[in-house]
Amino acid sequence: QRFNVVQLVLDIFEQLELTAAQRGVTLELIPPTLTDAELLVLADRNRIRQVLINLIDNGIKYGQENGHVAVHLAETTKAVRIAVHNDGEGIAKQHHHRVFERFYRIEKSRSRNSGGTGLGLAISKHIVEGHKSALRLHSEPGQGTTFEFKLPKPKLRRAAQPSEQG
Ligand code: ATP
Ligand code: MG
Repeated sequence: QRFNVVQLVLDIFEQLELTAAQRGVTLELIPPTLTDAELLVLADRNRIRQVLINLIDNGIKYGQENGHVAVHLAETTKAVRIAVHNDGEGIAKQHHHRVFERFYRIEKSRSRNSGGTGLGLAISKHIVEGHKSALRLHSEPGQGTTFEFKLPKPKLRRAAQPSEQG
């Protein structure tokens, strides 16, 4: 199944607009010129939608109040790299593995009473790995947080051979 990942991100931005506004968070697509572009990937659209909703929702809930959540899209020869970044305190190293565990929530998030179940990242990791990819976390205290994964681009359709013409 091939789909335009730019369109998917913009759809999710619309869906999460209110959630973001409640914390004063601005949602950004980077580079912004991509808004009118088509970036095709070969993946399960509904499942990738679930992954991106969770990552962006996390960025809004656990990132800086009145801050930014940015989705960076970058194309390589064979893949599209998708990175969701939020500013804020970041995640300390000792939690990096644990946030992918089911039901694990960093103490601060629980006490903030943001109402999650702690399943989002476990499910997201599972879905991304089901696409033969990996969900990576980069975060340094004070530097914000980035979750990143890649999806394959569809193979180019074979150009018609001379014998098939006419
Ligand atoms: P759910 O996604 O099921 O609604 P949740 O958001 O708490 O609940 P996960 O998405 O799995 O669960 O995240 C697990 C925990 O990792 C969160 O509770 C939070 O403590 C931490 N976390 C996740 N994303 C971020 C982030 N961008 N910045 C800081 N902490 C994060
Ligand atoms: Mg979550």
